[in-house]
Amino acid sequence: MGQQYEGAYSQHVQILRLAQVKSGMFAFSGFHDVNCNICRSNDAVLLGIRDAFSSRIAQKWPFDGFRVVKCRRCGLIYVNPMPKFDLKELQNWYSWYSSCYAGEFEGPKSVALETAMAGAVLEQIERHVSPSRILDIGCADGLFLSVARERGWYPVGAEVAPSMAAYARDVRGLHVFSGVVEDAGFQNRSFDAVHLHHVLEHLSDPSATLATAFALLRPGGVLSLGVPNEETLLKRVGHLYFKCKRDRWTTYLKPPIHLYGFSAQTLRAMLISTGFHIVQITGSYLGDPAFKPYSMFPETDFTFSTSGHFVALAQQLLGAVEKRLRIPEVLFALALR
Ligand SMILES: [Zn+2]
Repeated sequence: MGQQYEGAYSQHVQILRLAQVKSGMFAFSGFHDVNCNICRSNDAVLLGIRDAFSSRIAQKWPFDGFRVVKCRRCGLIYVNPMPKFDLKELQNWYSWYSSCYAGEFEGPKSVALETAMAGAVLEQIERHVSPSRILDIGCADGLFLSVARERGWYPVGAEVAPSMAAYARDVRGLHVFSGVVEDAGFQNRSFDAVHLHHVLEHLSDPSATLATAFALLRPGGVLSLGVPNEETLLKRVGHLYFKCKRDRWTTYLKPPIHLYGFSAQTLRAMLISTGFHIVQITGSYLGDPAFKPYSMFPETDFTFSTSGHFVALAQQLLGAVEKRLRIPEVLFALALR
């Protein structure tokens, strides 16, 4: 990834955020208290206050931040109270969110990387089922599904951002439902594979969506998913930094975008509790050829005015340490119904 592109990208995202937060297009319907989404315990410790925009970046963001907690029983990190979204609000949020990642779909390097990653994931899935019906929940512009189609799969998608769903349908000619998967009317046991790429951490009830995925899969069908590892070195060090300063902020999560944070242990526990048989949980590290680095630093509270060079160097150093300590940045799970 070019360093110039890195800098331009993070600047673009921050300007976009300011403009959109100022325009007041973001809303959610309120909050409700939730128990742990895995073990249902309500015994959780407060890690700190957090929001995706960070008050230091978006001064106009009217909200004071979300409470980030960690379940004392199973270790799941989540936002509590949890924001509530109706469909229109979800569509607004994710139209904006996908626009932040528009560069992903436009840059040829990024498309090549995404295509290669999709191929690698499909190769894993095809060890368990031969190409047949596959559902991508949160399919964005449909790149994964179009790679699946080339490999002989019959691809189906569900996508909450209307612009992305329209792109997948109109430009790529894919069968994509625009909305949340639960409303799509798909038949139970009608898919041989279900894929969720960086989706679970965005949901207000990820166990419920995994239960939907389980119901939609035929017995023996494959689930593949990727989530960010919330317990990375950067997150831990950042959190410790705020605690040492007696600051109420934490680096964990990006509410209201990322509402849940997983480790390999909590991801495993959630999959088992929803009935899946885990085949493998693997990880990808900073600096891996298949790792897309750009989303790392613009989101942290450390980077107010970092240059592309600093970001690239810091990521290299951090990547080397994390690799040695076996702390992946992204977790990939493969499981069977
Ligand atoms: Zn728990």
